Amino acid sequence: MSADPTASVRYNSDLPRAAYTKTLQGQPALITGASSGIGKATALGLAQAGADIVVNYIGDPTPAEEVAHQIEKFGSKAIAIEADVSTEDQVQAMFAKAINHFGTLHVVVSNAGLQRDSPFEAMTLEQWNTVIGVNLTGQFLTAREAVREFKRRGVDTNISVAAGKIVCMSSVHQEIPWAGHVNYAASKGGIMMLMKSIAQEVAPQRIRVNAVAPGAIRTPINKAAWSTPEAYDALMALVPYKRIGEPDDIARAVCWLASDAADYVIGTTLFVDGGMSLYPGFATGG
Ligand code: NAD
Repeated sequence: MSADPTASVRYNSDLPRAAYTKTLQGQPALITGASSGIGKATALGLAQAGADIVVNYIGDPTPAEEVAHQIEKFGSKAIAIEADVSTEDQVQAMFAKAINHFGTLHVVVSNAGLQRDSPFEAMTLEQWNTVIGVNLTGQFLTAREAVREFKRRGVDTNISVAAGKIVCMSSVHQEIPWAGHVNYAASKGGIMMLMKSIAQEVAPQRIRVNAVAPGAIRTPINKAAWSTPEAYDALMALVPYKRIGEPDDIARAVCWLASDAADYVIGTTLFVDGGMSLYPGFATGG
């Protein structure tokens, strides 16, 4: 018997999973920042759930086009659209193009995000504004266009019992302070109240707004935290479940929140973090 009976799943990024169920057929979905990491996995997950997909990206179109090709292999349609989510006219042009292409949107996942880390006293206004611009203003601009389209179309019960669903990608750092990442944590705390306030405002129109708060997920944004065995083991001190999250863990949570199975879920943040937000230091101390 192995000394650590969890060893076989600790480093494994390819754990067996149930197939996705077709809960989102006929519901075109737009995912921002969908050419890598969590956004890519979410685009692929929503496609496996039956949705046609708008793959938003910024910069090099090649990875986004590859995601679109993968989506087509699942039998869904896909279009890659470039837009900087922090820029109003680009977000509006993206929605116009997406709605023209698919007729409407039913699901919008506001996922694009970045970090510009710095000790607080050295943080530049540019670092602050870049993170707030993409992570928070980008969520505002994306959610506003989504609400406008969902209100315009209203409910079609043949497709979904809600007029539309928005899922905001937050982080455990909407709750957990993060030294050296003040701009990022502030943006995620902002997303929490943005999400809840929009949710309260548009629920009467049967638009559901929720968030997912990932913990440590294996993506490019935090490669330094998992790419060596030493870094990985240090990270596990913060994760009671003792494995890193995979992008597909987040995709499955988004699929559920976007589906009618979650129809009475409004203004909630679903933490998908292996227990990271459970104050793991108190497991042995306190
Ligand atoms: P990632 O770097 O792979 O993905 C971020 C994506 O956003 C990239 O595709 C990037 O091109 C895109 N992007 C950046 N600026 C943009 C802009 N102005 N307009 C459009 N797209 C833009 O990293 P990820 O981990 O997949 O991050 C996705 C989201 O998940 C982010 O909001 C991040 O804060 C959040 N998150 C990640 C983790 C984690 O552990 N990986 C944890 C908590 C929250």
